[in-house]
Amino acid sequence: MIPLLSRFQNRLRNALRKITFQVDIAPRAMGSVLISFGNTQVICAANIENSVPRWMKEQGVTGGWLTAEYSMLPYSTVPRKNRDSARGKVDGRSIEIQRLIGRSLRAAIDLEMLGSRTIVVDCDVLQADGGTRTAAITGASVAMALACEHLVRRHEISIHPMQKLVAAVSVGIVHSQAVLDLDYLEDRDAQVDLNLVMNESLEFIELQASGEENVFNNDQLASMLAYGREGISQLVEYQRSVLREHNIFIKKSS
Ligand code: UDP
Repeated sequence: MIPLLSRFQNRLRNALRKITFQVDIAPRAMGSVLISFGNTQVICAANIENSVPRWMKEQGVTGGWLTAEYSMLPYSTVPRKNRDSARGKVDGRSIEIQRLIGRSLRAAIDLEMLGSRTIVVDCDVLQADGGTRTAAITGASVAMALACEHLVRRHEISIHPMQKLVAAVSVGIVHSQAVLDLDYLEDRDAQVDLNLVMNESLEFIELQASGEENVFNNDQLASMLAYGREGISQLVEYQRSVLREHNIFIKKSS
């Protein structure tokens, strides 16, 4: 039995928070999901536009593109966080996170199969309690699958362009022990913070690990990755069951 670390609600060190997906939360979007990792809630919406960025045309790059935006709604945190528009500049953290979301999702899709189109993914944090970027990636993967299915059902493309589902989870070292899916208080106290993005074959897409005024060794990295892999496997199972309910079956490419 893995020892408890006095986590909120006695959660085990290798346990995810309660994960839920509420599909079609934004009816005007081609695909949308409200994902919750415990108290962290993110609205993920995906839309597909029939154009590609100018740089692709200029450089003669074929296929489609995917871009992502991330923001925290003002009332997602206490104290309230001003909107970027009110502050007159986009938060550096948001830019870093939206690039991560974009890179992660581009690894999930065959952009050639998408054709000359751009998937635009919007991730808006409704409630922040740690792990908003990992929840955003996990929810956006489902929103993107729903949006692409739209194109298939309208016979605009013949095969669903998603190759593999993508999920993400945070792992860390808190009080010298590895823990999965950190909430805000754990994140605040973490000696090491690791954001892990993988596809359903458990191949790495991105690994962001940093010591917070601390160092970490090989064994600690190995235990964080082991917990992370367990978390990702569970998240992919949840994603698949949500998509199954909507008769969407992503074929895993080899
Ligand atoms: N946070 C906040 N305001 C901010 C940035 C972060 O309240 O401007 C909180 C929020 O709960 C967030 C947590 O700090 O989930 C951890 O933030 P981090 O930058 O590590 O990103 P995340 O873990 O959300 O991906």
